[in-house]
Amino acid sequence: MAVNTEAYQSIKKELDAKQVTLVAVSKTKPVEDILALYDLGQRDFGENYVQELVDKQAQLPKDIRWHFIGHLQRNKVKYIVPFVHMIHGVDSFKLFDEINSQASKINREVKCLFQVHISDEETKFGFSGDELHLTLNTIKKYNQMDKYKNVEINGLMGMASFSDDMEKVRGEFRNLKILFDQCTEKFTTLSMGMSGDYKIAVEEGSTMVRVGSLLFGARNYAK
Ligand SMILES: *Cc1c(COP(=O)(O)O)cnc(C)c1O
Repeated sequence: MAVNTEAYQSIKKELDAKQVTLVAVSKTKPVEDILALYDLGQRDFGENYVQELVDKQAQLPKDIRWHFIGHLQRNKVKYIVPFVHMIHGVDSFKLFDEINSQASKINREVKCLFQVHISDEETKFGFSGDELHLTLNTIKKYNQMDKYKNVEINGLMGMASFSDDMEKVRGEFRNLKILFDQCTEKFTTLSMGMSGDYKIAVEEGSTMVRVGSLLFGARNYAK
């Protein structure tokens, strides 16, 4: 087992002092590893594959707050809506609409973050700043008709470029924070920062970081 409990304790302490929420990203890791951090008090865990999340959720304590941080396909929303705490990667209006409709069927309210494309990489999902404003305005209009009652938009999520150029990464986080501050909704959550860049993200105003490999060790996708 490669869980680094010392790293966990020190990162947790550092983030608690700044009131930043730590989401421990456990994708590809076994339930024993998750329990090792659970036993130390960790409750927020992040996964990005639907089937893996569903399997783990069934085996683990029910007071875990599960964060879905991957790209979510609309036809899979129904599998996680019954228990998921927060969906970070909402990157289209249609996905948002589907989350609401599945959640309304079971009378749940699901927390969502809108994903914004902040890197210069083409493979990363998310809204542009303009698309985000348009979408939020559309939702505001529908909300006056009481339409989206089963989703709570808590804020924004973004991923910086995979780059050694930390000033570039910092600039991308800074842009996301500017966008976050421009939104007139009562947003509370700005999810940005991973193992390699969470310190910079926190300096730039992150309220929630998603850290995997620093806590659980490197991931092995070959297995
Ligand atoms: C895997 C993943 C993380 C964690 O990455 P690490 O570099 O291992 O900390 C964070 N966010 C998302 C969206 C991920 O897919």
